[in-house]
Amino acid sequence: MPSRPCASRSNRSLRWIAAATAAAVAVAPMSASAQQRRSAGPPILRDTEIEQLLREYTAPILRAAGLTKQNIQVVLINDTSFNAFVADGRRIFVNVGALRDSETPNQIIGVLAHETGHLAGGHLAKLREELSRAQTQMVLATILGMGAAIAGARSGSGGGNAGAAAIAAPQAAIIRTVLSYQRQQEENADKAGVKFLDATGQSSKGMYETFKRFNDQIMYAGRGADPYMQSHPLPSERVAALGELARSSPNWEKRDDPALQLRHDMMRAKISGFLERQDTVVRRYTSAADNLPARYARAIATYRHGDLRTAIAQIDGLIQTQPNNPYFYELKGQALLEGGKPDEAIAPLRRALQLSNRAPLIEIMLGQALLASSNAAYATEAVPILKAALAREPEVPSAYSQLAVAYGKQGNYAEADLAAAQAAFLRGDSKTARDLATRAKTRFAVGTPGWVKADDIVSARPLPGQSN
Ligand SMILES: [Zn+2]
Repeated sequence: MPSRPCASRSNRSLRWIAAATAAAVAVAPMSASAQQRRSAGPPILRDTEIEQLLREYTAPILRAAGLTKQNIQVVLINDTSFNAFVADGRRIFVNVGALRDSETPNQIIGVLAHETGHLAGGHLAKLREELSRAQTQMVLATILGMGAAIAGARSGSGGGNAGAAAIAAPQAAIIRTVLSYQRQQEENADKAGVKFLDATGQSSKGMYETFKRFNDQIMYAGRGADPYMQSHPLPSERVAALGELARSSPNWEKRDDPALQLRHDMMRAKISGFLERQDTVVRRYTSAADNLPARYARAIATYRHGDLRTAIAQIDGLIQTQPNNPYFYELKGQALLEGGKPDEAIAPLRRALQLSNRAPLIEIMLGQALLASSNAAYATEAVPILKAALAREPEVPSAYSQLAVAYGKQGNYAEADLAAAQAAFLRGDSKTARDLATRAKTRFAVGTPGWVKADDIVSARPLPGQSN
């Protein structure tokens, strides 16, 4: 996982991109904690390895659903609870917690197939229509604030009704409308998901296992307040119907390919290594375990907790086992870069870039290492590298920040101001963006491409959800 330049201590290994996606309207109810963060946009996590795997998981499903042309993206949310939802018809949001908790590719592919069912059915547009007579904001506020009560009401088990009783009558009516609508849509999404899985020769067992697990939690542990339960009402009858449907498929007993299972396990190890406490990582991946995922998780945890030398030795061991795995070189480069050794980070990052078919996020990290190096000549090399990355990943603010540094080192202050303005704009800091773009305009000749871009930022309206 690429890092950002001045990350906080607790999450120094993560790259967040300020959400240009803040416009995503949460029609599917999200957890209250997610709601609190919405003003700053959801905490999006970027990682080449995980994104690549999820693209491979979703591509056949989207094809089967006839959604190939829509360019649907899977967006990772840095939240360790289990959740997956669609919010705007263009993206499937998945919490990293859902990836960590899915034991097989088939389990998470099942969840993705279900979400694709929502997209293919146009459920969001229909829900908006359904609620058009109520004020959407009020509907959302009601639902988001009442998550636990809703989950209790949905479970149909009688639990959580104390909360439901406290809901004011008009709000309760809205909730009932949403719930009855959603139950129907959930069943439809299940059926569509099973159809897509069948069409791609995959089992629906994983989808069933996941939903069954959540249903069991409600029944026996009273844990109805999980975010996933709030976005996906899950009465027992629905799980039973899904089980019946899934079992009738000739693909029911199909297993995941072992090579894919290994990549899945590596993804889960990475998430654990980067996001969980060191003692949790060590408990999940004990030192006795010699398999690749365990070694990966431990190497990441070692570097995150400051033991660079040991971490590099562990990462070199991984590279020896899989010499063509770009993500091991990426990790080595990241560890060295964050460990204050940018010059040593450059070679492994170049190798990672080559092996990953020039993944833009790795390209950005290489640009960062080049700029952090004491060798001034590298600043010149960093500019085209960062620009190439931005051509394919235009919404990564840290890449613009690095570009601003590179131009600054070259004494090109017009381009430096423009790049810094673009970074601020993407971070949602419209005021800084305007100020920097205004200054950039004075440095460019009127009408040149740089001047036009700066002028666009000066006159741009803030992205939804951003401050002025
Ligand atoms: Zn659903």
